[in-house]
Amino acid sequence: MSINQSLLRQIPKVDELLESDGLRTLRETVPHSVLMEQVRAVLDELRGQILREERQQLPSLEEIVEIAAGLIRRSSQKSLRRVINATGVVLHTNLGRARLCAQAAQAVGEIADGYSNLEYNLAVGKRGSRYDHVEEILCKLTGAESAMVVNNNAAAVLLILSAMTRGKEVVISRGELVEIGGSFRVPDIMEQSGGILKEVGTTNKTHLRDYVAAIDPDRTGALLKVHTSNYRILGFTESVGLPQLVELGRQYGLPVIYDVGSGALLDFSACGLSDEPTVVQSIKEGADVVSFSGDKLLGGPQAGIIVGKKEYLDLMKRHPLTRAFRVDKMTLAALEETLRLYLDEERAKREIPTLRMLLAPEEELLERAEYLCGLLQQTIPGICASIEHENGQVGGGSMPGQLLPGYAVAVSPTDCSAAQLEKRLREWDTPLVGRIAHDRFLLDVRTMEPAELEPAAAALRACLGRQGREGQA
Ligand SMILES: *Cc1c(COP(=O)(O)O)cnc(C)c1O
Repeated sequence: MSINQSLLRQIPKVDELLESDGLRTLRETVPHSVLMEQVRAVLDELRGQILREERQQLPSLEEIVEIAAGLIRRSSQKSLRRVINATGVVLHTNLGRARLCAQAAQAVGEIADGYSNLEYNLAVGKRGSRYDHVEEILCKLTGAESAMVVNNNAAAVLLILSAMTRGKEVVISRGELVEIGGSFRVPDIMEQSGGILKEVGTTNKTHLRDYVAAIDPDRTGALLKVHTSNYRILGFTESVGLPQLVELGRQYGLPVIYDVGSGALLDFSACGLSDEPTVVQSIKEGADVVSFSGDKLLGGPQAGIIVGKKEYLDLMKRHPLTRAFRVDKMTLAALEETLRLYLDEERAKREIPTLRMLLAPEEELLERAEYLCGLLQQTIPGICASIEHENGQVGGGSMPGQLLPGYAVAVSPTDCSAAQLEKRLREWDTPLVGRIAHDRFLLDVRTMEPAELEPAAAALRACLGRQGREGQA
């Protein structure tokens, strides 16, 4: 008991810590309240340990300062941070889906910190519409009459159904009642919109005659097709293609709505990948309204893009939900730049990160893996690293089952488990997210830009070394 009392008296004062060399420099950048809070937390913890008789000896002042400095640094870190994606999953939903092209990122900055003609028509000096900035280019790229953009594709589908099918039956195949990412479920969106779900066919087979039997001239409002973007039904299957559905719609005077989901603006099958429905083809085949995401295969900012017949788009532009779902100027800035790259397809493939990573040739990936592996071997003495053939993934619920053959660097830590290394790397200053396989940590280079290889090596150097182990303590 008496030992405890004397130890308690020896605990340094808050001011003593604040005046120490280790914390004085932090005082310039970290708010006083944050410094105080963390210093007190460290001292309270020490006091608690002494009172619980878990500690018979005080750490040195330097050690206490170091612990406090660590806590302060951690607590003043931003919550939303840039990370290095070494998973090989290109559209990683948890890591922000599509990465913007440089032009888009720059445009966001320009528009964000200045005024803009967001809703101002410069030619006539009067109020304009925010939707005008991308409508023309969207029409040009997709062949549609009219276009608009909302916050995401879930909002786009809800808006379309709300504007076009409220109180009416919407016919859809049971094979297309998809759930995307746990929260977007076609039946729920339908209910929210006020449309009435009229399911036809079975999970694996839906025939044209099923649609015909479901159509009621008084009750039916539209035919809906949803691309099963995140799963495939294989085997004994049948579904009705868009052209047939369009023909049926024409026969009965019903609009055909198509949620293509992934937003492919180019023909991926011509590049050796899965055959995704393209927006252009969907419009060409006669869909009245098509919706898709801006940040999946298109490779732009989060957005829901709607293209199609002017008469329907006009209904949507006037709908009150449009105001609730409206896109921000930064989104429009990024989207316009991304879309402009598509005017030259070859340029789009080179400069839009999503396309570049999806289409990266194997030799290029091997070269990058060799560079990274060499860098690790040169800068981390004794590291056990090798190059492995690995498959990347498209991600974002796009092109399920499509393997992307490429390369990863596999690191086998000797002083800790792969799981410990994985944890340290993702908690590092520049978090690095990779995969574990057979107790090795894998860095798939497909999703790593060349400029990220040095920082990745630096993170590994730190996390495999002493600092990493101490950071862990
Ligand atoms: C991804 C997807 C959605 C949801 O799009 P978000 O942009 O994530 O809101 C809706 N429908 C389909 C078919 C999709 O693939």
